Amino acid sequence: MAKIFKATTAGSLPKPNWLAETEKLWPAWVDSGDSLIEKKKESTAMWIKEQEKSGIEIISEGEQFRIHFVHGFLETIEGINWDKKTQMGIRNDRYVVEVPTVTDPLRKAGSVHIEEAKFLRSNTEKLTKFTLPGPMTIADTIANDYYANKEEMAMEFAKLLNDEAKSLCEVGIDIIQFDEPAFNSFLKESTEWGMDAMEMAIDGLDCKTAVHICYGYGIEENLNWKKTLGDQWRQYEELFPAINQSNIDQVSLEFAGSKVPAELMRLLPDKEIMVGVISVVKDHIETAEEVEMNIIAALDHVEKERLIPCTNCGMAPISVETAKQKLKALGEGAMRAEKRIS
Ligand code: ZN
Repeated sequence: MAKIFKATTAGSLPKPNWLAETEKLWPAWVDSGDSLIEKKKESTAMWIKEQEKSGIEIISEGEQFRIHFVHGFLETIEGINWDKKTQMGIRNDRYVVEVPTVTDPLRKAGSVHIEEAKFLRSNTEKLTKFTLPGPMTIADTIANDYYANKEEMAMEFAKLLNDEAKSLCEVGIDIIQFDEPAFNSFLKESTEWGMDAMEMAIDGLDCKTAVHICYGYGIEENLNWKKTLGDQWRQYEELFPAINQSNIDQVSLEFAGSKVPAELMRLLPDKEIMVGVISVVKDHIETAEEVEMNIIAALDHVEKERLIPCTNCGMAPISVETAKQKLKALGEGAMRAEKRIS
Protein backbone atom coordinates (compact mmCIF):
# COMPACT_ATOMS: atom_id res chain seq x y z
CA MET A 1 0.00 0.00 0.00
CA ALA A 2 1.28 3.47 -0.83
CA LYS A 3 2.50 5.40 2.14
CA ILE A 4 0.66 8.51 3.29
CA PHE A 5 3.87 10.30 4.18
CA LYS A 6 6.44 10.28 1.42
CA ALA A 7 9.56 11.41 3.21
CA THR A 8 12.30 13.22 1.32
CA THR A 9 15.37 15.35 1.97
CA ALA A 10 16.04 18.95 1.03
CA GLY A 11 18.59 17.59 -1.43
CA SER A 12 22.25 17.60 -0.56
CA LEU A 13 23.99 14.84 1.38
CA PRO A 14 27.57 14.74 2.68
CA LYS A 15 30.38 13.57 0.45
CA PRO A 16 32.48 10.66 1.78
CA ASN A 17 36.19 11.32 2.43
CA TRP A 18 37.24 9.27 -0.61
CA LEU A 19 35.34 11.72 -2.82
CA ALA A 20 35.93 15.17 -1.35
CA GLU A 21 37.02 17.01 1.76
CA THR A 22 34.47 16.40 4.49
CA GLU A 23 32.26 18.67 6.59
CA LYS A 24 32.91 21.67 4.37
CA LEU A 25 30.50 23.78 2.38
CA TRP A 26 32.94 24.30 -0.52
CA PRO A 27 35.14 21.16 -0.32
CA ALA A 28 37.82 20.18 -2.83
CA TRP A 29 37.54 16.92 -4.76
CA VAL A 30 40.18 14.39 -3.75
CA ASP A 31 40.52 12.96 -7.26
CA SER A 32 40.23 14.06 -10.90
CA GLY A 33 39.34 12.85 -14.39
CA ASP A 34 37.55 9.55 -15.04
CA SER A 35 38.42 8.20 -11.65
CA LEU A 36 36.63 11.16 -10.01
CA ILE A 37 33.55 10.55 -12.16
CA GLU A 38 33.51 6.90 -11.08
CA LYS A 39 33.75 7.92 -7.44
CA LYS A 40 30.89 10.38 -7.82
CA LYS A 41 28.74 7.59 -9.25
CA GLU A 42 29.74 5.20 -6.50
CA SER A 43 28.90 7.74 -3.83
CA THR A 44 25.57 8.61 -5.45
CA ALA A 45 24.64 4.92 -5.67
CA MET A 46 25.55 4.52 -2.00
CA TRP A 47 23.23 7.40 -1.00
CA ILE A 48 20.38 6.17 -3.19
CA LYS A 49 20.55 2.79 -1.41
CA GLU A 50 20.85 4.49 1.96
CA GLN A 51 17.75 6.60 1.33
CA GLU A 52 15.76 3.55 0.17
CA LYS A 53 16.91 1.52 3.14
CA SER A 54 15.83 4.33 5.48
CA GLY A 55 12.31 4.46 4.06
CA ILE A 56 12.75 7.71 2.13
CA GLU A 57 10.20 7.76 -0.72
CA ILE A 58 11.35 10.68 -2.86
CA ILE A 59 15.00 10.07 -3.69
CA SER A 60 17.67 12.58 -4.69
CA GLU A 61 21.23 12.11 -5.97
CA GLY A 62 22.46 13.95 -2.88
CA GLU A 63 24.31 16.50 -5.05
CA GLN A 64 27.31 14.15 -5.10
CA PHE A 65 28.34 15.29 -8.58
CA ARG A 66 28.66 18.98 -7.65
CA ILE A 67 30.83 20.81 -5.17
CA HIS A 68 28.18 23.38 -4.32
CA PHE A 69 24.54 23.63 -5.32
CA VAL A 70 24.91 27.01 -6.99
CA HIS A 71 28.29 26.76 -8.65
CA GLY A 72 27.60 23.19 -9.82
CA PHE A 73 24.99 24.62 -12.17
CA LEU A 74 27.12 27.60 -13.17
CA GLU A 75 30.27 25.67 -14.13
CA THR A 76 29.30 25.22 -17.77
CA ILE A 77 27.31 28.40 -18.29
CA GLU A 78 28.86 30.82 -20.77
CA GLY A 79 29.22 34.49 -19.87
CA ILE A 80 30.81 33.86 -16.48
CA ASN A 81 34.43 34.78 -15.85
CA TRP A 82 35.78 32.37 -13.21
CA ASP A 83 39.13 34.18 -13.04
CA LYS A 84 37.48 37.43 -12.15
CA LYS A 85 36.74 36.69 -8.51
CA THR A 86 34.83 39.24 -6.51
CA GLN A 87 34.61 39.35 -2.72
CA MET A 88 30.93 39.57 -1.98
CA GLY A 89 28.69 39.50 1.07
CA ILE A 90 25.96 37.02 0.23
CA ARG A 91 22.49 36.38 1.77
CA ASN A 92 22.37 40.04 2.80
CA ASP A 93 26.00 39.99 4.04
CA ARG A 94 25.49 36.95 6.26
CA TYR A 95 28.70 35.54 4.87
CA VAL A 96 31.49 36.82 2.66
CA VAL A 97 32.74 34.59 -0.16
CA GLU A 98 34.79 34.94 -3.33
CA VAL A 99 32.45 34.54 -6.24
CA PRO A 100 32.95 34.49 -10.03
CA THR A 101 31.67 37.38 -12.12
CA VAL A 102 29.18 37.64 -14.99
CA THR A 103 30.98 39.63 -17.70
CA ASP A 104 29.13 38.63 -20.90
CA PRO A 105 25.65 37.52 -22.02
CA LEU A 106 24.60 34.33 -20.21
CA ARG A 107 24.19 31.28 -22.45
CA LYS A 108 23.83 27.57 -21.92
CA ALA A 109 25.07 25.01 -24.41
CA GLY A 110 23.18 21.78 -23.70
CA SER A 111 22.10 20.37 -20.36
CA VAL A 112 24.29 20.74 -17.28
CA HIS A 113 22.98 17.93 -15.09
CA ILE A 114 21.33 15.50 -17.51
CA GLU A 115 23.80 12.63 -17.01
CA GLU A 116 23.39 12.90 -13.23
CA ALA A 117 19.60 12.89 -13.59
CA LYS A 118 19.76 9.81 -15.83
CA PHE A 119 22.02 8.09 -13.31
CA LEU A 120 19.53 8.80 -10.52
CA ARG A 121 16.58 7.70 -12.63
CA SER A 122 18.20 4.41 -13.62
CA ASN A 123 19.23 3.53 -10.05
CA THR A 124 15.89 3.67 -8.25
CA GLU A 125 12.29 2.65 -8.86
CA LYS A 126 11.02 5.28 -6.45
CA LEU A 127 10.00 8.88 -7.11
CA THR A 128 12.97 11.11 -7.87
CA LYS A 129 13.76 14.71 -7.14
CA PHE A 130 16.47 16.90 -8.61
CA THR A 131 17.50 20.21 -7.09
CA LEU A 132 18.56 23.34 -8.93
CA PRO A 133 19.51 26.70 -7.48
CA GLY A 134 16.73 29.29 -7.74
CA PRO A 135 17.33 32.31 -9.98
CA MET A 136 17.38 34.79 -7.13
CA THR A 137 19.81 32.72 -5.10
CA ILE A 138 22.15 32.38 -8.09
CA ALA A 139 22.01 36.14 -8.60
CA ASP A 140 22.99 36.51 -4.95
CA THR A 141 25.95 34.13 -5.28
CA ILE A 142 27.68 35.65 -8.31
CA ALA A 143 28.93 39.14 -9.06
CA ASN A 144 27.30 41.14 -11.86
CA ASP A 145 29.45 43.14 -14.24
CA TYR A 146 27.24 42.95 -17.30
CA TYR A 147 23.50 43.28 -16.68
CA ALA A 148 21.75 46.50 -15.63
CA ASN A 149 20.94 45.06 -12.20
CA LYS A 150 20.55 41.91 -10.14
CA GLU A 151 16.93 41.47 -11.19
CA GLU A 152 17.72 41.51 -14.90
CA MET A 153 20.52 38.99 -14.36
CA ALA A 154 18.20 36.74 -12.31
CA MET A 155 15.65 36.73 -15.15
CA GLU A 156 18.34 35.57 -17.58
CA PHE A 157 19.31 32.78 -15.20
CA ALA A 158 15.62 31.85 -14.88
CA LYS A 159 15.42 31.23 -18.64
CA LEU A 160 18.47 28.96 -18.51
CA LEU A 161 17.08 27.12 -15.48
CA ASN A 162 13.78 26.58 -17.26
CA ASP A 163 15.58 25.00 -20.18
CA GLU A 164 17.62 22.83 -17.81
CA ALA A 165 14.56 21.77 -15.79
CA LYS A 166 12.74 20.72 -18.97
CA SER A 167 15.60 18.44 -19.98
CA LEU A 168 15.67 16.85 -16.51
CA CYS A 169 11.90 16.23 -16.60
CA GLU A 170 12.30 14.62 -19.99
CA VAL A 171 14.60 11.94 -18.62
CA GLY A 172 12.03 11.02 -15.98
CA ILE A 173 12.72 13.15 -12.92
CA ASP A 174 9.44 13.51 -11.01
CA ILE A 175 10.08 16.70 -9.05
CA ILE A 176 12.32 19.66 -9.83
CA GLN A 177 13.12 21.64 -6.71
CA PHE A 178 14.50 25.16 -6.84
CA ASP A 179 16.52 26.17 -3.80
CA GLU A 180 15.88 29.76 -2.82
CA PRO A 181 17.53 30.39 0.56
CA ALA A 182 17.98 33.98 -0.60
CA PHE A 183 14.21 34.53 -0.31
CA ASN A 184 14.54 34.60 3.48
CA SER A 185 17.27 37.23 3.27
CA PHE A 186 15.50 39.55 0.82
CA LEU A 187 11.81 39.50 1.72
CA LYS A 188 10.87 42.62 -0.25
CA GLU A 189 12.77 41.72 -3.42
CA SER A 190 11.46 38.15 -3.26
CA THR A 191 7.87 39.25 -3.66
CA GLU A 192 8.75 42.17 -5.97
CA TRP A 193 10.64 40.08 -8.54
CA GLY A 194 12.00 36.85 -7.04
CA MET A 195 8.70 35.06 -7.54
CA ASP A 196 8.44 36.30 -11.13
CA ALA A 197 11.86 34.82 -11.82
CA MET A 198 10.70 31.58 -10.19
CA GLU A 199 7.60 31.47 -12.40
CA MET A 200 9.82 31.89 -15.42
CA ALA A 201 11.99 28.99 -14.23
CA ILE A 202 9.01 26.59 -13.85
CA ASP A 203 7.11 27.72 -16.93
CA GLY A 204 5.69 24.84 -18.98
CA LEU A 205 7.27 22.02 -16.92
CA ASP A 206 5.52 18.64 -17.10
CA CYS A 207 6.83 17.37 -13.76
CA LYS A 208 6.05 18.64 -10.27
CA THR A 209 7.87 21.71 -9.04
CA ALA A 210 9.05 22.68 -5.59
CA VAL A 211 10.73 25.58 -3.87
CA HIS A 212 13.00 25.18 -0.87
CA ILE A 213 13.32 28.16 1.46
CA CYS A 214 15.30 27.71 4.62
CA TYR A 215 17.41 29.38 7.27
CA GLY A 216 20.56 27.81 5.87
CA TYR A 217 22.90 24.94 6.56
CA GLY A 218 23.79 24.09 10.15
CA ILE A 219 27.02 26.08 10.01
CA GLU A 220 28.29 28.68 12.44
CA GLU A 221 27.42 31.77 10.35
CA ASN A 222 23.79 30.67 10.14
CA LEU A 223 23.54 29.59 13.75
CA ASN A 224 24.78 33.05 14.77
CA TRP A 225 22.35 34.74 12.39
CA LYS A 226 19.45 32.76 13.81
CA LYS A 227 20.26 34.10 17.28
CA THR A 228 19.46 37.60 15.98
CA LEU A 229 16.01 36.68 14.66
CA GLY A 230 14.14 36.87 17.96
CA ASP A 231 11.65 34.54 19.63
CA GLN A 232 9.50 34.05 16.58
CA TRP A 233 10.86 33.71 13.06
CA ARG A 234 8.12 35.23 10.92
CA GLN A 235 9.98 35.71 7.61
CA TYR A 236 7.78 33.13 5.89
CA GLU A 237 4.73 35.20 6.74
CA GLU A 238 5.74 37.76 4.14
CA LEU A 239 6.61 35.20 1.48
CA PHE A 240 3.94 32.51 1.70
CA PRO A 241 0.88 34.47 0.52
CA ALA A 242 2.66 35.20 -2.77
CA ILE A 243 3.98 31.65 -3.04
CA ASN A 244 0.52 30.22 -2.42
CA GLN A 245 -0.71 32.16 -5.45
CA SER A 246 2.13 30.89 -7.63
CA ASN A 247 2.22 27.82 -9.86
CA ILE A 248 4.72 26.00 -7.64
CA ASP A 249 3.38 22.64 -6.38
CA GLN A 250 5.43 22.09 -3.22
CA VAL A 251 7.03 24.39 -0.66
CA SER A 252 9.68 23.35 1.83
CA LEU A 253 9.98 25.10 5.15
CA GLU A 254 12.19 24.91 8.21
CA PHE A 255 10.40 23.64 11.31
CA ALA A 256 12.31 21.17 13.53
CA GLY A 257 14.20 22.88 16.33
CA SER A 258 13.42 26.29 14.83
CA LYS A 259 11.40 29.26 16.04
CA VAL A 260 9.14 29.24 13.01
CA PRO A 261 5.54 29.43 14.28
CA ALA A 262 3.80 26.28 13.01
CA GLU A 263 0.63 28.19 12.14
CA LEU A 264 2.47 29.91 9.25
CA MET A 265 1.85 26.67 7.33
CA ARG A 266 -1.76 27.82 7.11
CA LEU A 267 -0.63 30.50 4.66
CA LEU A 268 -0.05 27.75 2.07
CA PRO A 269 -3.53 26.17 1.82
CA ASP A 270 -3.12 25.26 -1.86
CA LYS A 271 0.35 23.72 -1.72
CA GLU A 272 1.95 20.48 -0.65
CA ILE A 273 4.25 21.33 2.24
CA MET A 274 7.64 19.75 2.81
CA VAL A 275 7.85 20.18 6.55
CA GLY A 276 11.36 20.20 8.02
CA VAL A 277 11.12 17.51 10.69
CA ILE A 278 14.89 16.97 10.88
CA SER A 279 17.26 19.79 11.76
CA VAL A 280 20.60 19.96 9.97
CA VAL A 281 22.80 20.72 12.97
CA LYS A 282 25.56 18.18 13.47
CA ASP A 283 25.42 17.95 17.26
CA HIS A 284 21.86 16.69 17.53
CA ILE A 285 20.59 13.51 15.94
CA GLU A 286 16.82 13.27 16.08
CA THR A 287 15.16 10.11 17.31
CA ALA A 288 12.33 8.57 15.30
CA GLU A 289 10.00 9.63 18.15
CA GLU A 290 11.04 13.26 17.77
CA VAL A 291 10.38 13.12 14.04
CA GLU A 292 7.02 11.52 14.70
CA MET A 293 6.09 14.28 17.14
CA ASN A 294 7.19 16.99 14.69
CA ILE A 295 4.92 15.49 12.05
CA ILE A 296 2.01 15.20 14.49
CA ALA A 297 2.51 18.86 15.51
CA ALA A 298 2.47 19.96 11.86
CA LEU A 299 -0.78 18.06 11.30
CA ASP A 300 -2.54 20.72 13.38
CA HIS A 301 -1.96 23.07 10.44
CA VAL A 302 -1.74 20.95 7.29
CA GLU A 303 -3.78 17.89 6.24
CA LYS A 304 -1.91 14.60 5.96
CA GLU A 305 -2.39 14.46 2.18
CA ARG A 306 -0.37 17.66 1.77
CA LEU A 307 2.38 16.92 4.29
CA ILE A 308 5.76 15.68 3.08
CA PRO A 309 8.25 15.00 5.90
CA CYS A 310 11.60 16.54 4.95
CA THR A 311 14.87 17.84 6.37
CA ASN A 312 15.14 21.54 7.21
CA CYS A 313 17.94 22.07 4.71
CA GLY A 314 20.68 20.20 2.90
CA MET A 315 23.01 17.97 4.92
CA ALA A 316 26.15 18.59 2.84
CA PRO A 317 28.30 20.08 5.62
CA ILE A 318 27.70 17.38 8.27
CA SER A 319 29.36 13.97 8.54
CA VAL A 320 28.29 10.94 6.51
CA GLU A 321 27.56 8.97 9.68
CA THR A 322 25.38 11.72 11.20
CA ALA A 323 23.46 12.14 7.95
CA LYS A 324 22.82 8.39 7.76
CA GLN A 325 21.39 8.41 11.26
CA LYS A 326 19.22 11.41 10.45
CA LEU A 327 17.89 9.68 7.31
CA LYS A 328 17.04 6.64 9.37
CA ALA A 329 15.19 8.75 11.95
CA LEU A 330 13.33 10.56 9.17
CA GLY A 331 12.11 7.35 7.53
CA GLU A 332 11.21 5.65 10.81
CA GLY A 333 9.57 8.77 12.22
CA ALA A 334 7.38 9.14 9.13
CA MET A 335 6.30 5.54 9.51
CA ARG A 336 5.54 5.91 13.20
CA ALA A 337 3.41 9.02 12.50
CA GLU A 338 1.55 7.12 9.81
CA LYS A 339 0.77 4.25 12.16
CA ARG A 340 -0.35 6.65 14.85
CA ILE A 341 -2.94 8.38 12.68
CA SER A 342 -4.27 5.37 10.80
ZN1 ZN B 1 18.40 25.08 2.65
